[in-house]
Order: sequence, then C-alpha cells, then structure tokens
Amino acid sequence: MTRPVRQPGEKFVMNWQNRARWEHFSPAELGQPCSSLLLDALERLRAGLGAQPLPIISGRRTKRHNAEVGGAIDSQHLVGRAADLPVGLVVVDAAIFAGFTGIGDVDGFAVHVDVRPGPLVRWTY
Ligand SMILES: [Zn+2]
Repeated sequence: MTRPVRQPGEKFVMNWQNRARWEHFSPAELGQPCSSLLLDALERLRAGLGAQPLPIISGRRTKRHNAEVGGAIDSQHLVGRAADLPVGLVVVDAAIFAGFTGIGDVDGFAVHVDVRPGPLVRWTY
C-alpha cells in the first residue's frame, strides 16, 4: 500500500501506544500506520465529549476489507485517515470542531470521520 502525499505537519505513525499524545486510541483498534492528523482529531473529539470512551468501529482497512464492506475505491480508510464511530455518539458540529474534513452522517450524527486534504466534505447515508 502506497502512502498518500502528506499534508502539512502530517506523519503516518506506527506503534504509538506508548505516546501520551494519542493514549486513548490503539493501533489494535485503528490499524496502522495512521495519520497523525487523524489521531490528533480523535483525541480532540474525545476531549470535547467530556473524555468519554470513543469506540472505533472501523479504522484503517486493507483494499480487500474495504471492498468487502463496500467502501469507496479511494476511501480514506485505505490510507489510515478515517474512522467509523457508533451512530448517535458524536454530533457533526463536534466533529467539525475537532478538525475532521470528511464527515458522513446519519440524522446529524457523525458516523464516518476523516482528515482528507482540502475543504470540508459532508454527506449523509
Ligand atoms: Zn468510514
């Protein structure tokens, strides 16, 4: 898997479980490597929710896994820039505030968040 062109300040990190900066999200639940921008945004989002646990349904995916779940061909999950969250846990405004630039939502609740390059993109399921 080739890595995407990095955005300013972005790194693709492995084995971050011992780093306090991203202590609430593990490589086991998100897959790796992951974008540092994704991990930063997830930590901001979690803090914004009152430091409640933020379960990850789906993080980085292999091409095969992505195809099996019907993911977009250019899905941000393929490059470690996306996470799917439980429906009803995170409102879209909080995800925008946390710095996500791709947000898929159901009834105003974010279920997919990513840190794609460029301006904010939103869609509904
Ligand atoms: Zn997703």
